[in-house]
Amino acid sequence: MNKVIVVLCDALRDDVAAQAMGYLEHLVEDKRASRYTVIAGLPTLSRPLYETIHTGVSVSEHGITSNNTVRRSSTPNIFQLATAAGRTTAAAAYCWYSELYVRAPYDRVADREVDDAQQWIQHGRFYSEDDYPDIELFAAGGMLVQRFLPDYVLMHAMGLDTVGHEYGGDSAQYRNQAILQDQILAHLIPLCVQAGYMILVTGDHGMSSDKNHNGTLPDVRHVPLYVVAPPDAPPDRRLGYSGQQVSQLRIAPTVLRLLDVPQPATMKQPPLLS
Ligand SMILES: [Zn+2]
Repeated sequence: MNKVIVVLCDALRDDVAAQAMGYLEHLVEDKRASRYTVIAGLPTLSRPLYETIHTGVSVSEHGITSNNTVRRSSTPNIFQLATAAGRTTAAAAYCWYSELYVRAPYDRVADREVDDAQQWIQHGRFYSEDDYPDIELFAAGGMLVQRFLPDYVLMHAMGLDTVGHEYGGDSAQYRNQAILQDQILAHLIPLCVQAGYMILVTGDHGMSSDKNHNGTLPDVRHVPLYVVAPPDAPPDRRLGYSGQQVSQLRIAPTVLRLLDVPQPATMKQPPLLS
């Protein structure tokens, strides 16, 4: 069994990641990671795709069809399946994750911090302002790793979405936010690899030059997936540039495979790793 971290960089475009995120691309170049292009589900919106990433099914199947669909997940999901199999879970994430996997609607006071072994997210640290600094989010995620060593950890940073809605996905400000996240991860990833984690870095959707997302073009639909492995991992987990475009539906089965948790019948796609 592997311990797994999913780093979800909200609104991270595939092309901007390839151009601006030098540390992650270094890991690929050195074959310490595998890189894929993920084709995000539709519509390219946050709340529906948070659920798609964690359930491995399309929006119509899981029913979280809009950002205004505020309810708990009713589809087998990574947090639920992991805890049912005796794995421990944690998340440092936007409050919509609390609504999907802890309690809806989100209460800023009551739900901000969760430490409860009965929850799907057993250790949660949530934020509700879109401009919550990425450096603080990743610090909270790193703290959860160091304090609890959970088997599955989600770290979800919102900075690129916030900057993208203000300046657009082809702006210097957006690219500089990608550089900032890459530099934070350059500090965090070695610590997590040393602690025994496999780390997946991806986006839910991209960002257009019109400062938005929802549609079908590559600027909003193509997001990266980096799978960072320990140095002693077998070569098929350190492919470098895979050259593959893969469905976003394969992320959840991949996480379950790494956690050694059985894949439910609802997830129809195969994992990326054997
Ligand atoms: Zn957005």
